[in-house]
Amino acid sequence: MILKEAIEQLRNGLAGVADPQEVQAMIRVVCEDIFNYDQVDVALRQESELPEFAPEKVADIIARLNRHEPLQYIVGSARFHGHKFKVNPAVLIPRPETEQLVDLIVDENPASDLRVLDMGTGSGCIAISLARALKFAQVEALDVSRDALNVARENAAALKAKVRFFESDMLSPQPASRYDIIVSNPPYVCWSERDAMDRNVKDYEPAQALFVPDNDPLLFYKAIAPYAAQSLEPGGKLYLEINQRFGADVKCLLEQNGLDEVRIIEDSYGNVRFAAAVMK
Ligand code: GLN
Repeated sequence: MILKEAIEQLRNGLAGVADPQEVQAMIRVVCEDIFNYDQVDVALRQESELPEFAPEKVADIIARLNRHEPLQYIVGSARFHGHKFKVNPAVLIPRPETEQLVDLIVDENPASDLRVLDMGTGSGCIAISLARALKFAQVEALDVSRDALNVARENAAALKAKVRFFESDMLSPQPASRYDIIVSNPPYVCWSERDAMDRNVKDYEPAQALFVPDNDPLLFYKAIAPYAAQSLEPGGKLYLEINQRFGADVKCLLEQNGLDEVRIIEDSYGNVRFAAAVMK
């Protein structure tokens, strides 16, 4: 099989899965992550012979994408904040919105030697990106899932980021150390919102990392806010990703817990998506 044939088969096989532009993006990822051909190679080496495993691999990818399995789980990686992270179904696939959360933190915190905690780290994408982008930060990250922590540790090692990972349930957090920054992208999608979600999300991504009960949508924020109030240094900052429906409620909750200068911030799609606050 030559490269041109593989691309043609993917294009035909994926026509029903996504619009042509998305299919093009999927093909680019497959060429790069499975066959090691970057965009320039793809343009110049259409006639190149692919390895023997190629026809079977292409058929497998087409079948799995037609079952709505996320491409990132199929290829085993996702790009986030300029880095490639290993992912598997134990962790949520990093989202572009969350890159904005990392950018916000990096832009607002130019100081060096900050102590940072990421609560519910999953693949480690936030913690690792911060460890790489902030100056000499001491980054810690927790998760309740041992399988997620294994992925996060592998990512930190591969990306040469110094992060201390530990197993902990953010709903019953351990006695605190002191931090300058606490960040979290906890589960925040209500179970009743599940039906409206894409199949690649609801059928494949870890429910534990996504959903909260309808009768307690702020479950995780109710645990994070008092923990942050107790463990942030004066002037320390809390950054959260939130459900667009609950901006006002999160603001109120943070204020009730003694946090100050609460901001509710939109993502680049114009949806309420983040909260930021300062410890008095
Ligand atoms: N933004 C994610 C989604 O819509 C949810 C992330 C989360 O629950 N923390 O799939």
